[in-house]
Amino acid sequence: MRLGDSVDDYCSRCKRTTDHAVVSMAADDVQKVRCRTCSYEHKYRHNKTGKKELTKEEAFQKVLASVTGQLGGSAPEPAKKKRAK
Ligand SMILES: [Zn+2]
Repeated sequence: MRLGDSVDDYCSRCKRTTDHAVVSMAADDVQKVRCRTCSYEHKYRHNKTGKKELTKEEAFQKVLASVTGQLGGSAPEPAKKKRAK
């Protein structure tokens, strides 16, 4: 993440999650962002809107669970590979 990068965050003026530009950073943390829709500059809220949003991983797992559930839950588990590090 760098200055000027696009980031999704909740805009209290737009009352929704919009595309923002990073305007202030401390180390690797985004401090301030500016809404690309209304140009409102505010503290970065980490896109927390109060209600929990599913991450891509969680959404994927949810879909996967519903799919395997429809199949009777007998889908074979994917082989777990050991990660050598
Ligand atoms: Zn806005």
